[in-house]
Amino acid sequence: MVPTMGALHAGHVSLIRLARDHAGPDGEVAVSIFVNPLQFEPGSDFSRYPRPEKADDEVCGAERVDLLFRPLPNEMYAEDRSTFVEETSLSERLCGASRPGHFRGVCTVVTKLFHLFAPDAAVFGEKDFQQLAIIRRMVRDLDLAVEIIAGPTIREADGLALSSRNQYLNPEERAQAPVIRTTLVEAARSTEKSAEAVLAAVHQKIESASLARIDYAEIVGADDLQPRLTIEPRSLLAVAVFFGRTRLIDNILLG
Ligand code: AMP
Repeated sequence: MVPTMGALHAGHVSLIRLARDHAGPDGEVAVSIFVNPLQFEPGSDFSRYPRPEKADDEVCGAERVDLLFRPLPNEMYAEDRSTFVEETSLSERLCGASRPGHFRGVCTVVTKLFHLFAPDAAVFGEKDFQQLAIIRRMVRDLDLAVEIIAGPTIREADGLALSSRNQYLNPEERAQAPVIRTTLVEAARSTEKSAEAVLAAVHQKIESASLARIDYAEIVGADDLQPRLTIEPRSLLAVAVFFGRTRLIDNILLG
């Protein structure tokens, strides 16, 4: 199974292909497309999130997806729903701090999808590194019988991570957005061991793009997502950057 919010791009396609490889010739691949209201905090882009149904159908057709599940919000949630799934540690920082309730929404919908489809495996992208870590933790903690598979981040030629939200960017913002990736790559190449110094360089470089506003830039352990003071093996640099109202995330392993 490949859970998505649709507006499918080459990043999603790479996950569908991973799922296909994993399922083998006799297996089946399900894709879900659901813009999950529970994971959008108030005032965010829920209503303007792109929903190109026909284009998504075509992608799923071309990839020979066996089952496409595209429910409406009222098919997924009763109006008086009162039960949620919440991970309470890895969700605290990074996107969890900027987007209260976001990961509770993600965990709740992914649990429902796992119950509805009982997939043997589910594929998630490393672009959403925190989401992947939280889902792995949830699967472990709740003994869910689903193997979690990670797919690498697929990028534009200039390094910008593919995202359904990239289409919100105006031409000036789009021209500056690759600074995120160039900054992360530069940080990963640096021999600096102080997290503070690395983060100072990250701030300086990203803020040199006139339209960029950093939401967060943090260095954490890739497994516990807790802050690190020095760069060690499996230190993760994760950033969220606004260009106008559009918030883009990316990450890279350091050390
Ligand atoms: P979304 O539709 O943005 O909720 O993403 C659905 C799945 O696709 C998630 O597991 C994401 O991590 C993954 N994904 C999104 N963008 C990319 C990308 N550029 N490369 C690889 N996977 C991605």
